[in-house]
This record gives sequence, structure tokens and C-alpha cells, in this order.
Amino acid sequence: MRVLVVEDEAPMAEALRNGLEAEGFAVDVALDGEEGLWLARENVYDAIVLDVMLPKVNGYVVCRTLRDEENWTPIVMLTAKDGELDEAEGLDTGADDFVTKPFSFVVLVARLRAVMRRRTTERPVQLSAGDLILDPAEGRAWRGDTALDLTAREFSILQYLLSRVGEVVSKTDVVSNVWDFAFDGSPNIVEVYVSSLRKKIDTPFDRQSIETVRGHGYRLARGGG
Ligand code: CA
Repeated sequence: MRVLVVEDEAPMAEALRNGLEAEGFAVDVALDGEEGLWLARENVYDAIVLDVMLPKVNGYVVCRTLRDEENWTPIVMLTAKDGELDEAEGLDTGADDFVTKPFSFVVLVARLRAVMRRRTTERPVQLSAGDLILDPAEGRAWRGDTALDLTAREFSILQYLLSRVGEVVSKTDVVSNVWDFAFDGSPNIVEVYVSSLRKKIDTPFDRQSIETVRGHGYRLARGGG
């Protein structure tokens, strides 16, 4: 589970990072709204903890912007008790839940887990490129009518490639979205997995869906190869 924390007060941001990592989350921290937006666009997160009062771009604008871009990552907003911006306004921007500062860490983690669960049951989940289809909720993938027998890691990589279909993704992108924060090996490990994925999703069907973009990474063809 990968979480983005957007919080400008450094001690609070560090406390959140340490606490969430201790709960088993992989955590990225942004110290202002602009950086938060950038990270949220660059990476796939399971949830975002978003402070409202932020330098450059405030939390409500970050939230609204992501929703306008059809980014449905669950968002828990951190609001100040005496803040002039209220929860109703936050709901309008598409936030999933609110935690008022000062908050208990246990409560924040419980709310985070709750929005992540809700999202996985509500969301229209199938990803596809042509006849290549993946259902994250069911943990299954198909080429046409044929069910694909993928390992957990292959499945995660295919899910990531499908989430960015048509775009060039680097090995580093794949590693940072599929492996957790403790991974410190070489991004070249991705080559091994892409090779085994091709043998399962392309070769038997005489297709070529995962293109190697020399010097840059890979691109999953929109039409599924
Ligand atoms: Ca703040």
C-alpha cells in the first residue's frame, strides 16, 4: 500500500511518514501543494493524506484538480478545527474523508484503511487495452477469452502498464510503483518480469503489446498489441 502525504509542517510530515511506515505503508512526502500534485500525477497511490492549508496550491485545489483529471485516488483531508475552510467545501472538491487537527494517529490510520476499502469496492475496476483485460478487484487477467496465469508481481506490473496505456514508462517508474519502499535492487529486474509477461500475454497469441522504447523503457500498446 503506497500513500502520499502532503503536509507543509516538516515535523508533522515526518511523524506521519514514520507512523505510516510502521503500519506497513510505503510513504512519499510532499511539502507543498504543487509538489503534491506532481507526485500524485507521476505515481499510483492507494491513498493521499492531504493537508488543507498548504503553500503554493491549497489542499482543496489539489483535490479538485486531481478529480478533474479523473484521478480517483482516495483522499483523506487534514483540516484545522478553527479553519475558515469547512468540510462542506472539502466534500465539493471530491475528498473522501476528513480528519481534524490535532488528530489521533490511530484514527487517521483507521480512516485511511476505510477509504481504501471503500474505493476498491465502488470503483469500476477493469483495465484494458484491446482484448487484454485486467480486473484488480478479482486479481484476474485475460487475453480475449483466455485467462492468464500470472504471478503476483507480473500481475502488478501489467496493472501498472495498463494504468498508463499508450505512455512510455521507465523501469524506475515500474519499480517505484510495484515494489515497496524497502526495495533497493536494480531497476533492471523489470526486464526479467517484462520478458516473462510477454511469454504469457503476447507470444501464445502472436501479439506484441509491450514495446521496448530504447533508452526510455516500455510502452503498452493502446490496442493491446
Ligand atoms: Ca498546513
